Amino acid sequence: MFFRCKMISNGEKEMDDIRVRIAPSPSGNLHVGTARTALFNYLFAKKNNGKFVLRIEDTDLERSNEAYTQNIFDSLKALGLNWDEGPDVGGNYGPYKQSERFDIYPKYAQMLVEKGFAYECFCTQEELEAEKEESVKNKTAHVYSGRCRNLSEEEKEKFRQEGRKPSIRFHVPKDKEIVFNDLVKGELKFNSNLIGDFVIMKSNGTPTYNFAVVIDDMLMKINHIIRGEDHISNTPKQILIYEALGAEVPKFGHLGMILAPDRSKLSKRHGATAVSEFVEKGYLTEALVNFVALLGWSPSDGNEIKNVEEIAQDFRINEVSSSNSVFEYDKLNWMNSQYIKKLDLEVLAEKLKPYLTQYNLEELTKEQYLKMVEITREPLTLLSDITNDVKYFFGEYPEIEEEANVHIDSEIGQTVLKEVIKRIDDWNFANLHEILEEFRSYFKEQGIKAKNTMLAIRSAVTGRTRGADMCGILEILGKDKVKKRIQKVIK
Ligand code: GLU
Repeated sequence: MFFRCKMISNGEKEMDDIRVRIAPSPSGNLHVGTARTALFNYLFAKKNNGKFVLRIEDTDLERSNEAYTQNIFDSLKALGLNWDEGPDVGGNYGPYKQSERFDIYPKYAQMLVEKGFAYECFCTQEELEAEKEESVKNKTAHVYSGRCRNLSEEEKEKFRQEGRKPSIRFHVPKDKEIVFNDLVKGELKFNSNLIGDFVIMKSNGTPTYNFAVVIDDMLMKINHIIRGEDHISNTPKQILIYEALGAEVPKFGHLGMILAPDRSKLSKRHGATAVSEFVEKGYLTEALVNFVALLGWSPSDGNEIKNVEEIAQDFRINEVSSSNSVFEYDKLNWMNSQYIKKLDLEVLAEKLKPYLTQYNLEELTKEQYLKMVEITREPLTLLSDITNDVKYFFGEYPEIEEEANVHIDSEIGQTVLKEVIKRIDDWNFANLHEILEEFRSYFKEQGIKAKNTMLAIRSAVTGRTRGADMCGILEILGKDKVKKRIQKVIK
């Protein structure tokens, strides 16, 4: 029998094709932390010609809902992290939603009971609470006492008669050292005595996370598990289950956490946390995915701006930083502005439309709309900044800001504006650059600074003292509108 051996990025030989997964629970919109985990799995799969699987972990039926599942699909797709197998696309190892796999878990739990690796536990909630309190009193770490481990058939029967429904607990061996070589963190060791027999099937017949995840990963042939380090304490339990099942233990890689700029847990009070929230706020998914990659990965050539394919080529899981990363919103903003600057004009114009729904875009022709985007794109940090920046292109008259009013009402302002009205019928709007140049010189000779000439026009036409290129604005608005707006503010 031949096995195809291939080299993976960290130089180890692998028998099987690489299979990784992202296993989000649909109890909220896709969090950027989960997006980072998904991305690193995706990159690892891409780099090694492996498969990237999406599994929805919705065993907690009360907290899971379809809208969140859809949000997970949409967010991963928007980031370009397409999966090879998953609930919507299928695959050879489905179903890919845990709620559709409920009949699978009891069989394996039963098998573990029969082989002596697990047992029925009849303890009530109150009894377990009392045990916990006792440990608190004695200031010892709480581990389940294991008192249901050796119940006789008669004792079990008696509990059943009382109406108690058993859970199933995994029997953790005593004095065992559980060691694994983490792909990111290196060798990690755990003492089994600190784990305590843990529940794998609840008394209501549903599996716990630790059990379902192992059964699913095993049956889906997942051989590399890359996830957040908040799962490290689960890993020894999962390794014990793999071993009891006689299954091959996958390789694990635990990523450092993502912290807020103040080094606390990233949460809503720091800003957006869900991918869809970032999108609504006007971040480009290309920028977001690039930024998220840098939370743990560094480019070998020092150039941080890269697309997913380029990152995949340069990605090595054993070079990922094992420490926590800080989510610097300022850096993301900078990166987003860079991506906006580079975007093709027509693509950008399309992407901006959702942020312009309050305006009647019909007022502009396609050319005018593109021109408007062209002259207003420069200062954009977020796509949503456009909403306020282009206000004066729409409607008959602009709202006049106080600062602009000062320039309109001043003597110089009124002189300049009256002169515009005198001349405007003769102005060729296709040649505004030269016309305005000449106009400024005319006033300069009378001691009026070019800056003030332009400020008067800008203030009257846009209601603001700052904004896009003046010639462009006048050209888009057209002679009639410009004339009307100026006439309205002449005293
Ligand atoms: N459903 C788990 C979570 O969202 C998956 C953890 C794992 O990757 O094992 O945290």
